[in-house]
Amino acid sequence: MSIKAFYSPHYAAADTPTLARLGIVAKRLRDLPGIELLEPSPLDRGKLLGLHQADYLLAFHEGIEPLASSQGVRWSPTVRNAFYWMLSGQLLASEQAMESGIAINLARGFHHAVFERGSGYCALNGIALLAHHRPDHKVFVIDCDEHGGNGTEEFAQRLENLYQGSIFGTRFGCLGHQRAWNYLVHVADDGFQRYLDSISEIRQHIVDTRPDLLVFQAGVDCHRDDPKSRVGLSSAQLEQRDRKVIGIAHDLGIPLLIVLGGGYQDPERLAALNIGTLQAALDVFG
Ligand SMILES: [Zn+2]
Repeated sequence: MSIKAFYSPHYAAADTPTLARLGIVAKRLRDLPGIELLEPSPLDRGKLLGLHQADYLLAFHEGIEPLASSQGVRWSPTVRNAFYWMLSGQLLASEQAMESGIAINLARGFHHAVFERGSGYCALNGIALLAHHRPDHKVFVIDCDEHGGNGTEEFAQRLENLYQGSIFGTRFGCLGHQRAWNYLVHVADDGFQRYLDSISEIRQHIVDTRPDLLVFQAGVDCHRDDPKSRVGLSSAQLEQRDRKVIGIAHDLGIPLLIVLGGGYQDPERLAALNIGTLQAALDVFG
């Protein structure tokens, strides 16, 4: 089978290095047999109503400072449009996942955005969007970025159909609550088995929750060569992580949407790690 991945050149805003890197991943993907790239349609902005506070949505649309740049990257129409396109891709990829079991959105920059503003290079919370868009569906996020998904955790307090299990090396304000389970793991001190055990514990929460959709936030800034990494996963351990997480969705028969997350080392090496995640998806679902 082929796996559908949503991507538009609009995602890779040239004036934002963290987003521009997505273009390198997309380019490499064209050579990966089994992945079919699809371009999303423009976002229906009505889908964002109520997701974030109205004054923030207006500021982000119009470029009204300081809110417009609250994510930490200077606002421009190009940056705004990149996020709009990534959110459209997110909705389409979630529908695709529900239809065929798995889909990919080659996007990043969602999980730190909170209701009132952006944060940590994340302008709009495209993960919370999925739960906001389908209140009748339970959405469970497995967030394996170096940084805790504090924005999604906060949204999970507002949205009763949103759940998150987060394994991180940098807490980023995550405290956990009745629908958010956190695991702080530094492999050098705690051992890699502790990391794998954390995934197993999240799997049990997924079994108990019985979600309609799983979202894997596959950050690679937890790779040990990344300047921000405190988790400290080797390339082989990262591959094991990907296979184990993707295997949960496959084994339990729950539709899976994979999104990319953070990554701050050399863009070509980053792209290779991202491609590794997608290769794992092909191997598990192939
Ligand atoms: Zn991160």
